[in-house]
Amino acid sequence: MKLNALNKMTENYGSTEQMPVLFLGHGNPMNAIEENEFTHGWADAGKSITRPNAIVCISAHWETAGTYVTAMDKPQTIHDFGGFPQQLFDVEYPAPGDVQLAKETKEGITQTPVGFNYDWGLDHGCWVVVSRMYPQADIPVIQLSLDYRKPAQWHFELAKELAFLRKKGVLIIGSGNMVHNLGMLNWKDDKPFDWALEANDTMKKLISKQDYTSLEKYDSLGRAVQLAVPTPEHYLPLLYTLGLKSEDENVSFFNDKTVMGSISMTSLRLG
Ligand code: ZN
Repeated sequence: MKLNALNKMTENYGSTEQMPVLFLGHGNPMNAIEENEFTHGWADAGKSITRPNAIVCISAHWETAGTYVTAMDKPQTIHDFGGFPQQLFDVEYPAPGDVQLAKETKEGITQTPVGFNYDWGLDHGCWVVVSRMYPQADIPVIQLSLDYRKPAQWHFELAKELAFLRKKGVLIIGSGNMVHNLGMLNWKDDKPFDWALEANDTMKKLISKQDYTSLEKYDSLGRAVQLAVPTPEHYLPLLYTLGLKSEDENVSFFNDKTVMGSISMTSLRLG
């Protein structure tokens, strides 16, 4: 087969090589419709990765009692926010679901029973970022929920069980924010708080050192990190990403910037 034809095939049918894993700081839902350095960072990440066969997203915005995967053919676009322009509510991201992938994901997880969900869809933690990476909405997307009853280490361990999906050309994306304190936003001048920069830096260093035990015990990392993670839901998707890392894999950071004082957009790619 000629190389061109082979390339064409890869383009059409996606990849079965080991896929990278992403953690994306999603920030403001307006990133779905604005052009800025962060949306460009996500788009560039999409372009730099072999086209995935499907996407599994672990979003800060889907917390459940128990663990669920979305298992519908056509997930709805959930506008789970308020106080934004109508233009944002009008955005639809009609990516298909993937019932077979939901089944494989459920079967691959032994740590806990996984239920099928038929009424969620894609929340903004997922579609805001995925729509900027793959605007054509032609790659199937499913979501895996966060069991809010479980500690950080439990989530990190669960993530490891998803590693087999990477070899099936599935792109796994954790979507949250490493530093996320809505109660302390800086409305005045957007300047990052010292503690936000410190927490972002602490987390990056621990990620680079592969010190996951410390990252799991984020409550013990001092005042800056405590302020950065007042509630765990935006932080936990990071642990899903890190749980999928092989020891020798590269980590690269991008969109490493803090906005509105207390939200870091820092994102990372593994592999
Ligand atoms: Zn969010």
